[in-house]
Amino acid sequence: MSEKQEIVTIDGPSGVGKSTLSRQVAAALGYTYLDTGAMYRAVALFFKRQHIDLKNDQAVRIALSGLDIQLFPAKHEDGDVGVLVNGQDVSLAIRTPELGMLASQVSAIPAVRAQLTAMQQAIGRSGKIVAEGRDTGTVVFPYAAWKFYLEAEPEERARRRVAQLRAAGQEVNAEELLQQTLKRDRDDQERALAPLKKADDAFSIDTTYLDIQNVCTRILQIIQA
Ligand code: C5P
Repeated sequence: MSEKQEIVTIDGPSGVGKSTLSRQVAAALGYTYLDTGAMYRAVALFFKRQHIDLKNDQAVRIALSGLDIQLFPAKHEDGDVGVLVNGQDVSLAIRTPELGMLASQVSAIPAVRAQLTAMQQAIGRSGKIVAEGRDTGTVVFPYAAWKFYLEAEPEERARRRVAQLRAAGQEVNAEELLQQTLKRDRDDQERALAPLKKADDAFSIDTTYLDIQNVCTRILQIIQA
């Protein structure tokens, strides 16, 4: 298939404003918001709770065959997408820095990527979506009609994550979070499979000094042009 799909992809490293923007763009267009990071976090939590050895391919495959992930809309307009893992609500449990790091490790496993990519593509076939992640413009939806790649200085990205986590009532050490953010992005960029990178046909936007509202307006202008 080479026809463009009515899909918007928004990729980039952590803390660039992807979630807020994806939510706002989806709401403005009347599209469904797909948070692919939430799915990797859900797998990470599931594996952690099952004490799965990530290096044991067979254990990983068996665990994946017993995993069901369902996403549901956020309860508040600016809240995170909700997630059910085998019927259990893990929406809050997956939103910690620890789970972010673990999701990054889990996301380098080929069987995990294959299963989640297939799930994401099935969601993409069922309606118009705004997909947010690391590889949505490059691997998951290469035929998306509109692709965006967001960037921002690491210090600013860590600052935003700290503010976000503190607003959610979590205790965080700013310096530690900056170091974790740098490591997670490096790992995501350097992995062999579906690394974090800009799709050739994506619009790049540096959000370091930009107000999220302005970025949203710019993205909508590009889409509606
Ligand atoms: O976006 P979020 O911080 O929730 O993503 C958590 C981790 O999941 C990322 O650091 C990345 O390793 C992984 N991920 C991915 N591909 C995606 C979305 C997230 O590898 N499309």
